[in-house]
Amino acid sequence: MISFKDLPLPADVLDNLTSLGYKTPTPIQEEAIPAILKGKDIIAKAKTGSGKTLAFALPLILKLDETEHFPQALIIVPTRELCEQIAGECKKLARYKADVKVITLYGGTSLTKQVSSLEKGADILVGTPGRLLDHFSRETIHLGQIKTLILDEADRMLDMGFADDILKIVSNLPKQRQSLLFSATYPENINKLTKVILKNPLEIKVERKETKVAIEEHVYRVDDKEKALLATLQHYQPSLALVFCNTKVKTAEISDMLDAPKGLT
Ligand code: ADP
Ligand code: MG
Repeated sequence: MISFKDLPLPADVLDNLTSLGYKTPTPIQEEAIPAILKGKDIIAKAKTGSGKTLAFALPLILKLDETEHFPQALIIVPTRELCEQIAGECKKLARYKADVKVITLYGGTSLTKQVSSLEKGADILVGTPGRLLDHFSRETIHLGQIKTLILDEADRMLDMGFADDILKIVSNLPKQRQSLLFSATYPENINKLTKVILKNPLEIKVERKETKVAIEEHVYRVDDKEKALLATLQHYQPSLALVFCNTKVKTAEISDMLDAPKGLT
């Protein structure tokens, strides 16, 4: 197992990673970080939870030019939750640099507010295709200095029908740029994006290694499921437990039952 120290990273970046509790890079990070730092376009495929965000955000932040006034990186993602999650991760990873501004741009929230933060200046834009296009057509974002384009969860964006919006946005970016595409799966129609957007991409695939998980499974045949659930919880006394229910109503019922003082003793 390698450590972050084995990657071509400066001391302040390594210190920040340590303070964030990251010790060893995940396989996708180990492969993608050096390639991105070299300026290669990449297509990276790795399962959910494999650490793809840090794989692109860390080199991206390292490469930011602090004298530049316009956005230098554009990260396109399918949902507002992902916008927030990725922006949060970028801010943490950029702590060692003075004043890196990250702005999220997604629908369902005030355009005016987004416009006024854009006017104050940003280094990294994280947005959903629809809202980004909105800003572009209103000329409220400046994409002329974008040096790095990232498509995260490309498979989901295709599923959600965002291909044309993405292509429209990308056609307005500088041709001289680095483009990175991250995806958990690699559907056929992804070529629609990769062919047009990426130049000579390096393909990085981290295959799923089926590790045998140490889970013991027990099955109980019961008549009264609620009674059995209480008995099981009382018996095992887990510090954390996840209960799956069929319906929204049942979920509320079970939650109320477990909350009630007579529930668990
Ligand atoms: P993906 O995008 O591949 O689904 P994420 O980038 O969201 O995965 O990362 C999943 C989780 O793993 C996050 O909570 C992240 O903080 C954590 N993580 C990422 N890289 C590392 C690492 N090198 N060491 C420990 N945890 C990590
Ligand atoms: Mg991800």
